[in-house]
Amino acid sequence: QCIIACPVGALHEKENIKDVWKALNDKEKYVVVQTAPAVRVAIGEEFGLPMGTRVTGKMAAALRKLGFDKVFDTDFAADLTIMEEGTELLKRLNTGKNLPLMTSCCPGWVKFVEHQYPDMTDNLSTCKSPHQMEGALIKSYFAQKMGIDAKNIVVVSIMPCVAKKFEENREELSCDGLADVDYVLTTRELAQMIKEAGIDFINLSDEEFDNPFGESTGAGVIFGATGGVAEAALRTIFELLSGKELETVDYTAVRGVEDIKEAVIELPDGRKINAAVAHGLSNARKVLEMVRSGEKHFDFIEVMACPGGCVNGGGQPIVNAKVKEKVDVRLERAKGIYSEDKDLPLRKSHKNPYIKKLYDEFLKEPNSEVSHKYLHTHYVKRDRF
Ligand code: SF4
Repeated sequence: QCIIACPVGALHEKENIKDVWKALNDKEKYVVVQTAPAVRVAIGEEFGLPMGTRVTGKMAAALRKLGFDKVFDTDFAADLTIMEEGTELLKRLNTGKNLPLMTSCCPGWVKFVEHQYPDMTDNLSTCKSPHQMEGALIKSYFAQKMGIDAKNIVVVSIMPCVAKKFEENREELSCDGLADVDYVLTTRELAQMIKEAGIDFINLSDEEFDNPFGESTGAGVIFGATGGVAEAALRTIFELLSGKELETVDYTAVRGVEDIKEAVIELPDGRKINAAVAHGLSNARKVLEMVRSGEKHFDFIEVMACPGGCVNGGGQPIVNAKVKEKVDVRLERAKGIYSEDKDLPLRKSHKNPYIKKLYDEFLKEPNSEVSHKYLHTHYVKRDRF
């Protein structure tokens, strides 16, 4: 077992492979897995495929072969996050309170704000990160639908991230006395399990995710790259606020690996929403200082702690330094993300039919009482250190 140190204490590299094998071999347990957007464009590297190759279907097939009872996609909950966070932003714009709204899907960034800018924790979106939302729904909505005792469900998240191992242990991320997520495996750990099981990954035929948490739009997929959350939010916010169809969904101003990116969306009634995107915590600090000094006004800020976002997360396949001199890992993997977005028939979160069904059957509406119970959380103002 290996524990590494992190300046904000959010990195928590604890290996969970044995725990997951144990759960899979326990006949009493119903073991469900979900995979983050960035995993599908990186895990192929562990099996010799070129950087950024999309292996979404092979990954789903491999997970089923490992013995998971359901194979879900965290991209579904990324779409759900846009519904919840977008509605939260609209409410804050109407009241003028706690602006700019800051994204909350990156646990490294959340912990940074708690320690370094505790006076700004109210600016963080109250949305849990997508895999925590999905875990909470698996143990409530899905458990009820399937007639399974939630206590017997084990939720495993495959993440590009070691900070998510810390996140899933936070007591603020549980519901009805149950942790939303039981184990987080990194992309590297999943690859190791596939190898341990002797699965011929490269020759697997593509399979689909399971429903009700298996369908996502392109907006959910792009969460894996820096600027993706902002772009997904802008696609939905424009349509919700204007009531008009957005013709061009590609907000290229927030794509790429420039340190800090800015975008303005202009609504048909003349209103403007100012968004900023930063990746890497030194860039995040610059944005927060600009907001504090009054140098800039933003309504919405997306931050990802890892340079390039989750595609370059600490749990992803390790790239040899010589290869890194020749290619930009962040851009190569992001290409896979944006090509999956482009190929999906639906590219706006609010158009996902399974999201609509979830609201009809369970949550009622975004930011409802039920949504708050399962999908939202609070933060802790911590000491600076
Ligand atoms: Fe984890 Fe990095 Fe993604 Fe943040 S940006 S969620 S720390 S992989």
